[in-house]
Amino acid sequence: MSAVDLKRAVFLDRDGVINVDHGYVSSWDQFEFLPGVPAALWQLQSAGYVLVVVSNQSGIGRGLYSEADLAELNRRVYRYLLDECGVEIAQFYHCPHHPTEALLKWRQPCHCRKPAPGMIEQACAELRIDPSSSLMVGDKVSDMEAGQAAGVGRLFKVVPAATAQPLAGNGDGKEGVVLVNGLPDVARIVSESRAPA
Ligand SMILES: [Mg+2]
Ligand SMILES: [Zn+2]
Repeated sequence: MSAVDLKRAVFLDRDGVINVDHGYVSSWDQFEFLPGVPAALWQLQSAGYVLVVVSNQSGIGRGLYSEADLAELNRRVYRYLLDECGVEIAQFYHCPHHPTEALLKWRQPCHCRKPAPGMIEQACAELRIDPSSSLMVGDKVSDMEAGQAAGVGRLFKVVPAATAQPLAGNGDGKEGVVLVNGLPDVARIVSESRAPA
């Protein structure tokens, strides 16, 4: 398999990137898109990126909601974005575990909970994605570390507007991490960097 056969992707953390992080969001009622996100997803898709959600969901392990609840929410998000916005999420990956706070079978150290790269690695294998030509967008250091560990080429960290000045500056103590106000900034940066000189 040569590199040209591989796709490039945007790996998206969910809470704080796609939707407002209300804490353990587990139903469509609680799901509130952040400003400009559907349009930004459409732009990234149009630029040739496969859209992949990689989300820590220890709320499952903690017994706050079920795998079925999350599957239903994912189905609603998928349908809304496809039907209303023409955006297709290629796959949703989640980690239900927590090393200390989860119950029963979910309480374990795992390779999928970010900052571990397991979800990204699984996506790359299943969807034939080249991580080095892909992007990771998250709002926590653990998202950046997961992307870095998986060899993702460009890392974007969403930070509160007041702290993202100057826009898209490097920093936050992580080399190669670009700070942005939100996913619309990522779409803009990607489209600008692809524009002919
Ligand atoms: Mg997050
Ligand atoms: Zn896990």
